[in-house]
Formats: sequence, structure tokens, C-alpha cells
Amino acid sequence: MNYCSECGQLVEKRLIPGDSIARFQCTGCGMVHYQNPKVLVSCYATWGDKVLWIRRGTEPFKGKWAAPSGFVEQHETLAGAAARELYEETRAQVDTSQLQLHLIGNLMHMNQVYIVFRAPLLKPEFGVTDEAMEVALFSREDFPWEEFAFPELAENVELFYRDMARNHFGVYQGVLENGNNTITRVSSRPY
Ligand SMILES: [Zn+2]
Repeated sequence: MNYCSECGQLVEKRLIPGDSIARFQCTGCGMVHYQNPKVLVSCYATWGDKVLWIRRGTEPFKGKWAAPSGFVEQHETLAGAAARELYEETRAQVDTSQLQLHLIGNLMHMNQVYIVFRAPLLKPEFGVTDEAMEVALFSREDFPWEEFAFPELAENVELFYRDMARNHFGVYQGVLENGNNTITRVSSRPY
């Protein structure tokens, strides 16, 4: 950050009294610009023992497989954002009121909070979009692990398929960093 988004003057990194982290502060109007993690959401849309995945049509990791995901917009609910991104990227539909929480994750290296929901597809209907060059339902056995865009999430995907196989879903939380994951179950209450 170089300039103030309020008045256009230069900003400077300063330690604000009472704070422990240096912040960008405007040298003109004095506004402090706090920078915080973004909130990323995914929806694991399910059909039988399968989950809906996309082959990414955009960078980064274009051509690799991932869950339909995106950032929460202003004044949007987490579940609403997950269902919207699912539809935008795959044209698949779920009932937003049926979204259940699967994971609250900390993507430390990307400075993002990552929330994953799950929901059954209303119909097994979906299609390619600008953001997805291919859309497919994969069981655990069919999942293209070698072409997964985010290996740091593989453990979480395994957990999800395992829960699906048992038809007993937990809620998880943890830190997601390649080679240094700590994912723990916060609830085993079946929904
Ligand atoms: Zn300013």
C-alpha cells in the first residue's frame, strides 16, 4: 500500500499507540488502514458418494482440479457466498438452507480464512463455465489426486470422503499449510 484510499496522500508504516503491529497510516488525513485476512468459501456439492469438482479455467493453477470456491462479498452470508460461487463456476444448484459446515481453516501462507460447506446437489446437473474448463463428480477412488491444485487441502478432502463413506459428518478446524497441517474435529454431532 502506497497511497491513502480516502484522500490520496502517501501512507507510512507506523506503530499506533496501544497496538502491537505496525499499520499503514495516512500522512495526510491520519486514517489507519488495517489489513486483515480475506474470507474464502467452498461448497463440497455431493451426489451419492461423489463430490463435484472443477478443472480450473483461470490462474493460478489453471488446468488443475479444485473445489468451486471464491471470496465472500460485502453484506453476503458465508453460506450464500458458497452457494453463489458453486453456481457461478459450475451452474450446479444446492438449497442454501441445506449447507452444513465442514471446515473452518486457516490458510496461513495465503492470509485467508477458509470455510468449507457441504450440501447435496438438487439435481446432478452442471456444466463448464469461464471459470471451469471441466466439471465432474468424483468418488474418492476417481479423484485426480495427482492433478489437485491445492495439495495442502488433500488431507481435508480425504477427511470429507471418509465422513461421506460413514455417512457421519464432523466439523473440523485447523491450520492448512503444506506439510504442516493440523486439522482436528471440533464436533462429531451428526446433522
Ligand atoms: Zn488519507
